[in-house]
Amino acid sequence: MKQWLMVTLALLVCLCGRVAAQDVYNTESIDGVEYVRLSDVCRNYNLRPAAAKGNMLAYQGEHRISLRNNHQDFYVNNYRYVLSYPIRTYAGRLMISSTDVSKLVDPVLRPRFSKNAGILRTVVIDPGHGGHDAGAVSPYAREKDCNLAVALKLRKLLREQGYRVVMTRDTDVFLTLQQRVAIANRCPDSIFVSIHHNSGRRAAEGIETFTLAPHGTTSPFARTRRMADLAGNDQDSENIALATAIHSRAIKSTKATDRGIQRARFSVLCTIERPAILFEGGFVSNPEEGRLISSSKYQDKLAKSICEGILGYSSVVCRKSPGSNSRVASSRKSSSGRVRTSVSGSRMGNATIGSRNKKGNKRG
Ligand SMILES: [Zn+2]
Repeated sequence: MKQWLMVTLALLVCLCGRVAAQDVYNTESIDGVEYVRLSDVCRNYNLRPAAAKGNMLAYQGEHRISLRNNHQDFYVNNYRYVLSYPIRTYAGRLMISSTDVSKLVDPVLRPRFSKNAGILRTVVIDPGHGGHDAGAVSPYAREKDCNLAVALKLRKLLREQGYRVVMTRDTDVFLTLQQRVAIANRCPDSIFVSIHHNSGRRAAEGIETFTLAPHGTTSPFARTRRMADLAGNDQDSENIALATAIHSRAIKSTKATDRGIQRARFSVLCTIERPAILFEGGFVSNPEEGRLISSSKYQDKLAKSICEGILGYSSVVCRKSPGSNSRVASSRKSSSGRVRTSVSGSRMGNATIGSRNKKGNKRG
């Protein structure tokens, strides 16, 4: 009877996506954080134990997840995420936090059930920094220039796909973070993509993508638990789905080190009322990567993968695609005619520019 009830509730999640993890799974409180059994989540998604590398554990079905006890590293289809809370054990069983189930596992594995998904007509592109604020600077590149170069290339690609594009800046000018957010919040049916490049130790390299930390959680980039609800948290599911779609494409296309999809409370992500991400396309401070990201060829690659990520997100998550563009709508089905249900990794729709278009900061 209890099992039947579990299955029914899990089905409810599949059908409406509005049932919280704690309503579906048995929960346990570990150090004040609500956890559920990993085995229950795997059962819900038909994931079975699979071979894994090193000390990781893997579960495979239509998707593959891998993880480690006491760690926040979490991989979906081999792309890296950082959980809000570490995997734990309780009474000999592996546990995952309810927050990570509802704010990461559910929207990434079943993004089309996102409750807020609307129409996407406009993409707001935000090239970070500008004017007197150069961002990260090295002998190899200036961040503000790389951000703008990728953004302008992305604008061209998105316009070719029928999207309306709004730029927070399209020249070398300075805008405050509040001005950037205000521009996005004035655009209905839009998403917000902030483009940055990184700085760090000489050896630091790779691509990382940030989304707003879920309400009440901490992260290395959000040390305080702000209990007041942030406007950006209304789009939690869309945020992580958008991040997944873009990040996985960028990693696949560039073969850059995967630094993961991470949580933060940067200013531009907190008060935005649209699905939003902050994309870091590589390290200007790394000699090799710095040279690479200042090259037009590499910037083309980044712009193309971000564009394809947006198409993938739109085709899977949104009710209707831009300007009722039939080319975009056609990406909803795979070559086998089967509707894709994930925006992650290789299963992220079939949206590629080539196949669809033959004619041709600061942190807060
Ligand atoms: Zn920056």
